[in-house]
Amino acid sequence: MDVGQDRDTQSRRTLAQSLVALVLAAAWLGAAALLWRTKVPSLSLADLDPRDYFTAPEIARGEDYRSGARALFIGRLAAELAVLALLVWNARPLAARLGRIARGRVRIAVLLGTAVVVALWGVGLPFSAASHVRRVDHRLSEQSWGGWLADRALSLGVQAVLVTIAVAGAVWLAGRLGGRWWLPGAPALVAIAVVVVLAQPLVIAPLFNRFEPLPDRELAAKVEELAARMGVEVDDVRVADASRRTTTANAYVSGIGPTRRVVLYDTLLDGRFTEGEILSVSAHELAHVGERHLWKGLAWFALFAVPGVALLAWMTERRGGLADPRLVPLGLAFVFVYVLVTQPLANAVSRRYEAEADWLAVQATGDPESAVALEQRFVTTSLSDPDPPAWVTYWLGTHPPPLDRIAMAESAAAGAAQASSSSGAAGRPCSGRFRMPSRVDHFDQESVIAAMSSCMKRGDMFTRVTTTPGTSPSSTSWSMRANVSVNS
Ligand SMILES: [Zn+2]
Repeated sequence: MDVGQDRDTQSRRTLAQSLVALVLAAAWLGAAALLWRTKVPSLSLADLDPRDYFTAPEIARGEDYRSGARALFIGRLAAELAVLALLVWNARPLAARLGRIARGRVRIAVLLGTAVVVALWGVGLPFSAASHVRRVDHRLSEQSWGGWLADRALSLGVQAVLVTIAVAGAVWLAGRLGGRWWLPGAPALVAIAVVVVLAQPLVIAPLFNRFEPLPDRELAAKVEELAARMGVEVDDVRVADASRRTTTANAYVSGIGPTRRVVLYDTLLDGRFTEGEILSVSAHELAHVGERHLWKGLAWFALFAVPGVALLAWMTERRGGLADPRLVPLGLAFVFVYVLVTQPLANAVSRRYEAEADWLAVQATGDPESAVALEQRFVTTSLSDPDPPAWVTYWLGTHPPPLDRIAMAESAAAGAAQASSSSGAAGRPCSGRFRMPSRVDHFDQESVIAAMSSCMKRGDMFTRVTTTPGTSPSSTSWSMRANVSVNS
């Protein structure tokens, strides 16, 4: 073969590879653009002053709680990264030692993966304990130490099982297929995510809570009527005994297809929230169901997971391939950092869907006053930050900041008043301010760019809570652990 022909083949191959990459990137962007669409009209939200909605003592109490919570979050993150680095560095001797207990690549890999999970759990434990003390001190929780420890043990178990499945699958596939293991590996991960979402209400949630049908039949009938008005089919509205570990109120949807359900915390029904507020929460959750946000969350998961798994395969291949169990700590450290780095992008998507649920809810109830009151009560009962700093919203905000949610409800109220008045005068004190460029608009523009890049979705996309992350012990998501996002 002469040199010219060889070069020809080479350049043709490069061209074909570039074309494939281009087509894949275009498909990714197309899918992301489709998923990004929501029913929220373009709104110019008012830049509200928290002092108009919260008293000075309420603001001070929240600030006092959150300053410590944020410090704990940063400390824990630093400690976890340090432990991961240590494990990556010592993977060789650790694998040699574990090799004396277990034989076979996959078994050693699973033991190493479990060691990483246990080490991260252990280093997080004191931070979690400190956080528990602060939550009890601030009356956000009445949970006993026994209950707290049982929750920690359960979540360790759930994580260990999930990591075992992932590590065993990846190392086994890498042993059979070499560097191309990610080609079946990535779709398999997405399939596992679908199964987890499907099974979450039946298998994982009951480990942490008991669920009962809504006891107040009158309220249940009103929720059903609301669902019918919104054109949403949900057979199952349940109450979770969340009060066993928190005083904060919340609600969420979980499950897909036959397992989908709306769950209200019992803390939402203990008399602190009015019926209008409870119906506002319910409408928000029903909107999540109606707009198929959990399915869309799975689609985003696929968009972020596939490049992530490919990147993981490429990175471990350069060090000999993931068939070598000694690369498991490095692989898990990569996943940890990938999730951390893509968190802002994932949260941008989450905030967008939350805003859509808020908007559709207020349209369905026609009761923006209750939506505003609900948000106020969420803030005061969860010690959330009504107007968090931008870095907190970008990095950890799964929900729009409470003040923006209030502004959206106010805007719906102003819109309704405008529609009913032929003169066009809204007659609301803040209606004139809606033209101001708002933070929400700004976030959304940033987020479009963000969502067009790459990222990975994780568990918090799989159940859509109304507010107040930080109360779900089964969650391993950053914002939930941080206890500082949006509302808590
Ligand atoms: Zn929500």
